[in-house]
Amino acid sequence: MKICRTIAEVRAFRQTLVQGVGCVPTMGYLHAGHAALVQASQAAHPATIVTLFVNPAQFNAAEDLANYPRDEAGDLAKLVSWGVTAVFIPTVAEIYPTGYQTYIDVEEVSQGLEGQYRPGHFRGVATVVAKLLNIIQPSHAYFGQKDAQQVAVVRQMVQDLALPVEIMACPTVRESDGLALSSRNARLSPAERRAAPVLYRALRQTQDAYQAGERLAETLVEQARAIIHAEPLVRLEYLSLNDPQTLKPLAGTLAGSALLSLAAYCGPVRLIDNLLLAKHSEHL
Ligand code: AMP
Repeated sequence: MKICRTIAEVRAFRQTLVQGVGCVPTMGYLHAGHAALVQASQAAHPATIVTLFVNPAQFNAAEDLANYPRDEAGDLAKLVSWGVTAVFIPTVAEIYPTGYQTYIDVEEVSQGLEGQYRPGHFRGVATVVAKLLNIIQPSHAYFGQKDAQQVAVVRQMVQDLALPVEIMACPTVRESDGLALSSRNARLSPAERRAAPVLYRALRQTQDAYQAGERLAETLVEQARAIIHAEPLVRLEYLSLNDPQTLKPLAGTLAGSALLSLAAYCGPVRLIDNLLLAKHSEHL
């Protein structure tokens, strides 16, 4: 596996790869969710480049950035065992050198949901993803549905800027009790870890209600909210039904599929999750 730390190095390595390249952008502390993205890329391309960069521009709280888990040696060992072609691990100064001043705002789809509670988050995401895609020039880039708004923001950016890359969304990988894998799960206490699967239970039971014929947005949202409210260790930040592509909020009788998404604090740890409400189990 080639390890590149500078833009010049990864560009030079990329030039040696004649065929299509798949790219998997990550912030490291890798888990089976990341592995699934790597596998999807490897199934479609002869070469897969993973990026590992904790992007300061997408953290709206300094404390969250400082607490973000990191394990470069462990990540490199995993990437080797997964058979990744190359990894790009830039420093912050490599991506944002002194004098850096260009940012990308994807205006509408960045508002609401995560955008409402994490001001500036998607500006940071769009900026770093555009820069990484521009450096690596993959034919396809792989993202997880767990961050559904991120998928929508990146897709809109790629369309608006006519970037020559296809954005692929992969289903959320979960623990056996339903908790979505996340690097942040490592910070849950044992009691919080036992409480956290209530989020998935609420999403699933609401999906069941949808599939059984319930179409009133307010009833569906209220059902999910009540299930989570019964768990004292979990504090809901938002729970919302939105159009899966535009992310516009939905109310009244649902005409088609809908994205049910939430953010909740479990102790000090902020978790997000979502499910697509559709006639059959589908992902983005
Ligand atoms: P992160 O390192 O958390 O920024 O995530 C890097 C990529 O992995 C993003 O596209 C995430 O949506 C995706 N990802 C994170 N957790 C999961 C998961 N449990 N299942 C599938 N994809 C995931």
